[in-house]
Amino acid sequence: MTSASIFADGFKTTPWWWEWAPPTAEGAVPVPKETEVAIIGSGYGGLSCALELARSGVQAHVFEADAVFGTGASTRNGGGVSPGTNLGKGRAGYGKSTLEARLGPEHAKAMLAEAAESFGHLEELIRRENIDCHYWPTGRFVGAAVPRHYDRLAKSVGKLQSGTNAGVSMLPRERQHEQIKSDRFHGGMLVERSGRLHPALLHKGIRDAARRAGATMSVNAKVTAVERQGAGFIVRTAAGDVRAKEVVATTNGYTGPELGWFRRRLVPVRSYIIATEELSEDQVRALIPNGRTIADTKRVLSYFGQSQDRRRILYGGRASFAGDTPENTARILHGMMTEVFPELGSARITHGWTGYVAFTFDALPHFGQHDGIHYAMGCNGSGVVTMTWLGTQLGRKIARTQNRPSAFDGVAFPTRPFYTGNPWFLPIVGEWYRFRDRLDRWLA
Ligand SMILES: Cc1cc2nc3c(=O)[nH]c(=O)nc-3n(C[C@H](O)[C@H](O)[C@H](O)COP(=O)(O)OP(=O)(O)OC[C@H]3O[C@@H](n4cnc5c(N)ncnc54)[C@H](O)[C@@H]3O)c2cc1C
Repeated sequence: MTSASIFADGFKTTPWWWEWAPPTAEGAVPVPKETEVAIIGSGYGGLSCALELARSGVQAHVFEADAVFGTGASTRNGGGVSPGTNLGKGRAGYGKSTLEARLGPEHAKAMLAEAAESFGHLEELIRRENIDCHYWPTGRFVGAAVPRHYDRLAKSVGKLQSGTNAGVSMLPRERQHEQIKSDRFHGGMLVERSGRLHPALLHKGIRDAARRAGATMSVNAKVTAVERQGAGFIVRTAAGDVRAKEVVATTNGYTGPELGWFRRRLVPVRSYIIATEELSEDQVRALIPNGRTIADTKRVLSYFGQSQDRRRILYGGRASFAGDTPENTARILHGMMTEVFPELGSARITHGWTGYVAFTFDALPHFGQHDGIHYAMGCNGSGVVTMTWLGTQLGRKIARTQNRPSAFDGVAFPTRPFYTGNPWFLPIVGEWYRFRDRLDRWLA
């Protein structure tokens, strides 16, 4: 098949998820003159914070820069949810050992336990608020890209299992076809306590719940500056100035120069996803028999799985570090997908889209307060559970309803000398990582 014919008629560059839950201005109200808590950004982080505050009787208003709610990463992601088993995954290793090196054993343990708790919180939120987001607790398979990665994963299993109680075990290569009909991996790690959901429906569900609880929100309300005034703040927005007692920043990969201190600590990286056309249910089932979310151990990772109707494969990854066109990145992803599943060579693509995630220099999400502004940011590509949790934790902290401080609270949020928030180095670093991934395979 030539690359030109991989596109189905009517190929769209918007998320497949938007077919169910398109971005909308529904429920938006005019910007108020004052509010108790001003929340910047209407992704999972901001909305969860608003929901929690409203439930505690604290007045919260969410400011969204865009003309509609739901255009950030929270409606664009792969919908994979897990209990923090990749927390702190960095160059030095996978999971807990990296965390321990950075934070010390006690703090690492507390953070991992809280990450596990955050997964339960998302499940409870979905139940409590009756959010129909096709939640599917299918578990996850992390495929080892080379045999050495299998050994590395195996070394971390014990600690991860004891830290998260997530049903973590190893699956050797000879049994791999039980989970994925591909020979591309060298065995891998299974994480039972994880799953998949429809991200845009989750976003809509949290937004509706926040409004039901009494939170208010505006679109076309980009926050352009936050200034201290007396004991509170003046929040300057594109739709007028607002007085607020507290300010929350939850802008993640979309953080602009107006939040310069945060921007200098975040590296916005594009992630990309394609959706295949409808395939036969039998074919989709055969490729991923138990419907697990699949990820791999490459530096430039891929993540994929069945769509919830079991008719498509959704395949995601860092197809480009240079902001390529949706068509080119879709072609690249299609190539990556057929490397894993050669039988999908003739499957055409109906949707190919992108969105920004935010990496941090220590590979950890960050939560705390700077210059009086509360924040939760830096999902490192894994924020469905994390940002929903940290947003909720921010709400509890401000409403003073927390049982105990979050283990994420106040961890130093590092930057690098001369970094201004413009990741000019990404194409170089990205290509270097890609080269290292290829080298790993050659040497394996
Ligand atoms: C393609 C892709 C795949 C992903 N896959 C997964 C996955 O499978 N599993 C997983 O756990 N995570 C995944 N993620 C990450 C996850 O989607 C994010 O971590 C999460 O959605 C971040 O939520 P948030 O609320 O912090 O930010 P966002 O949802 O990005 O929202 C930030 C909002 O802030 C607004 N904003 C910015 N500046 C201003 C301002 N000055 N004033 C007002 N508003 C402002 C933006 O317009 C935006 O709406 C993926 C991300 C992408 C892009």
